[in-house]
Amino acid sequence: MKGVTDTAPDDGSFGDLVVFLDEGVPVPLASAAVNVADLAVTRGDGIFESIGVIDGRFIEFERHLARLAHSAAMLDLPEPDLEAFEAAARRGVAAHRPEPELLVKLLYSRGIEGDDVPSGWIQVLTGPDHSAARREGVRVVTLDRGYRHDIAQTSPWLLQGAKTLSYALNKAALREAARRGAEDVIFVSSDDVVLEGPTANVLVRHGDRFRTPRTDLGILAGTTQAAVFDTLDAMGFAAEEALLSPADLASADGLWLLSSGRLIAPVRELDGRPLPVDAPFTTTLLEKSFGLPT
Ligand code: PLP
Repeated sequence: MKGVTDTAPDDGSFGDLVVFLDEGVPVPLASAAVNVADLAVTRGDGIFESIGVIDGRFIEFERHLARLAHSAAMLDLPEPDLEAFEAAARRGVAAHRPEPELLVKLLYSRGIEGDDVPSGWIQVLTGPDHSAARREGVRVVTLDRGYRHDIAQTSPWLLQGAKTLSYALNKAALREAARRGAEDVIFVSSDDVVLEGPTANVLVRHGDRFRTPRTDLGILAGTTQAAVFDTLDAMGFAAEEALLSPADLASADGLWLLSSGRLIAPVRELDGRPLPVDAPFTTTLLEKSFGLPT
């Protein structure tokens, strides 16, 4: 897939950029073009990963690559060339103007309709400032996801658990949250089981016990959640996957949303009711899990 230009800006340093896998050179984001007939554009028929990069360090790169391969298999896409994705991502970050936090997206599409040739590219973006959400927390509403908790088993063709490019629903849910005076969402199944957020996994604390919804509920297996569980294990806490109800969230001693860009955001309000926020503990988890400077 051709970018409009293959040259770096005049001062030699890139801002946000794209590297197409078949070309391998960074292209400024503003002039990078994807074919309008690409199925990623016309159908959202593809997959992606978003990876945090802190001070040039990729966070959980291996877990993201493994999940890209898993999503590709679920969508019957040809196996992605993970080495090419990794090389493009590293080249892209090296070419980007240094920033404390960057976000790298890996995109893999079914390609142009009829061609049967998948297309892949990476984006390197300056990360938004998440410090307020990490420190002070976010307001969250629960929303009905509209299907049962066992959908992954009953209806695998719905691709639950794959990270597809079709995020229109997730974005709509975030707009609904904004209409209700909140910044984020936790989805609950139609039979009252806690699932995930539109772009995050859920972590709930009761005493020294930490739980996250089971990945067989048709939710995304989170790379951030896995890293935080490694930290909790190392700290000697019990951390497990579970079936959680909305009542478990309301009674929590601590509730967090976990995701690659924002990493760890405490939930300070759930459906209009305040929840306890333990800022020093969140800081400890951020430091130990991601080496995040405070
Ligand atoms: N669930 C959904 C639906 C997501 O989109 C994401 C991340 O984008 C997550 C969970 C969290 O996954 P990760 O921690 O790997 O970013």
